[in-house]
Amino acid sequence: MYGLNHYYKLNVELAERDISTARWDTLFKTSTSSSRALMKEMLREAQLLARAEAVCRVLPVLGVSGNKIVLEEGRALTSSLLVRLAGNARSMLLIICTLGHTIDKRVEEYNRRGLAARAYFLDVAGTCIIEAAARRLVEEIKGQLRARGLEATIPLGPGHSYWENLKDQRVIYELVNPSTIGVSILESGIMLPRKSLSMALGIGRGLPPSAENHCYYCSIRQKCPLSRARDLP
Ligand code: SF4
Repeated sequence: MYGLNHYYKLNVELAERDISTARWDTLFKTSTSSSRALMKEMLREAQLLARAEAVCRVLPVLGVSGNKIVLEEGRALTSSLLVRLAGNARSMLLIICTLGHTIDKRVEEYNRRGLAARAYFLDVAGTCIIEAAARRLVEEIKGQLRARGLEATIPLGPGHSYWENLKDQRVIYELVNPSTIGVSILESGIMLPRKSLSMALGIGRGLPPSAENHCYYCSIRQKCPLSRARDLP
C-alpha cells in the first residue's frame, strides 16, 4: 500500500547526529583514551556484524475506542499517545527492524571469555545502530509518503513509558510477521535478536502536530540514557 515495500535492507552507517545525543556520546566523553579506542573498535565490529533488515505492513484504521486504535483484522493497539497523535490517521504503518543474531552472539562470547568491557561497548554500539537505522528507514518512508501527498506521525512503540502495554509488541509482531527476517518473540513480549525494535506510525492527512521524537512524551526521559529529548538538564 502507498508504494511502500514489505522488506527493507537497512543502512548501518552512523552519522555524527546519530551518536551526538546517544548514550555512546556520553560514554565516549567520559572514558579514558584506551576505552575510547576500544569503543571505536567495538563500533566498527558492530557495523560489520549487523545484518540490518526490516519488514513493514500497512493496515487500515477502523476507528478509535477509548485509548485504543482499532485496526483491520480485529486487532487494536492500546496507547493514549498513539490515539492522540494518530487517532485520525487513515492507516497504521507497523515496522519491525533487527540487526540479526550475530551481535548478540558476539556479546555472549565476550562475556564468556571475561571481556566485559568489549561485551558492554558492543552491546551499546548495537543499540545506537539499530536506532539510527530505524530513524533512517522512517525518513525514507516519510519521503515516499510525502511524494503521494501523505503525512506520517513520529514513530511510537511498545516498551516505552508512554505505551501502556508491552503485550502490544505481540500484536505488532503477529501482524507484521518478522519471522522471515529471523525475529522471534518471548512470552514477555521481548523480541529476539535483542537488537530488534518495533514501531507504529499513523499515515494520513491533517495529522496533529507533535514533538520531534517520542522521548518528549516519555516520563523517564530525564533519566533514560537513550533519550533524544533535548530538554535534559
Ligand atoms: S526517553 Fe526515549 S528512549 Fe528512553 S525510554 Fe523514553 S522514549 Fe524510550
